[in-house]
Amino acid sequence: MILVLDPSLNDLSQNEICLKLQKKGFFTRLVNQSGHLIIAVDGPDEESCEREIRTWHGVVEIISGRNSFYLASRRCQRRNTVITDASGRKTFGGDQIVAIAGPCAIETEESALVLAQKLKESGARVFRSMIFKPRSSPYSFQGLGRAGIPIIREIKRQTGMLILTEVRDPLEAELVQDDVDFVQVGTRNMSNYQLLKHLGQIKKPVLLKRGMGASIEELLCAAEYILAHGNPDVILCERGIRTFEHYTRFSLDLGAVPSLKELSHLPVVVDPSHATGKSSLVEPLALAALAVGADGIMLEVHEEPDSAFSDGTQSVRPEVFKNIVEKGRRIAQAICRSM
Ligand code: PEP
Ligand code: MN
Repeated sequence: MILVLDPSLNDLSQNEICLKLQKKGFFTRLVNQSGHLIIAVDGPDEESCEREIRTWHGVVEIISGRNSFYLASRRCQRRNTVITDASGRKTFGGDQIVAIAGPCAIETEESALVLAQKLKESGARVFRSMIFKPRSSPYSFQGLGRAGIPIIREIKRQTGMLILTEVRDPLEAELVQDDVDFVQVGTRNMSNYQLLKHLGQIKKPVLLKRGMGASIEELLCAAEYILAHGNPDVILCERGIRTFEHYTRFSLDLGAVPSLKELSHLPVVVDPSHATGKSSLVEPLALAALAVGADGIMLEVHEEPDSAFSDGTQSVRPEVFKNIVEKGRRIAQAICRSM
């Protein structure tokens, strides 16, 4: 259970509430983030005391249940979170929809630079710059690793694009954090709580992908880890979930977009590439994602999908990406946004 406290309560009153809870045999943890005061309460039969606790001075709200989150919720913050870049320009969560594009993984400096320049000209603001790849098979291409860091720097220097890269553990986050604009947590790490806690302490926005078997509330709880540990800049990403359907690699849950928007103030991005595993399905689902209110789309793009080191079957060519952005701009206009 979570107790939301009046943020103007002084330290003494906060401690008093904690002590009263501890006397009842509960374990308590005080979280003070972004002007919000919360006490996490655990113990046997918490709910039986809910009625009484509700009457205590300074307790504003009680949130009970297994998947409890507050900082990520609309209840906590009515207005949308807007993520800004290092120079203060709005990115995800504003009126303008952001396109993220790039290869599944950076393969060579030259190919990445040529592609980044093309994608920028076609309307991508963020370049997928993946060097640490979480692959299902240990024998698949694992990314360039540390050797890719100077390439990322060069892409940023030459194109001025915003850089997104995935990290799989705190060490990788430390290695890249000065050179990137966004760090990604992939589907396989959505429940890597040590990583989430670590990313709560860095100064870069985190794009958090939904676990392939995770519910909407579990995704929001994962986001809450990052928020509760001090980083308010989280972007949620729907990338498909496992269902009985096997025609597509995963099932893209477009209903998750308005659902997340209803439950949370955090921006939402959709990745139709990993969701479908099929390049032919990327365009219709990218456009549909815009229509249901996504703040961004993330697409895998490769000059020669057939010879990509990874995920070639779902990668679209740069000309297809350009076409998607052109159509996307018309959809954005129809829903009073831009792209
Ligand atoms: C990716 O975006 O590079 C990726 C591996 O995606 P996911 O974690 O959704 O499979
Ligand atoms: Mn991929």
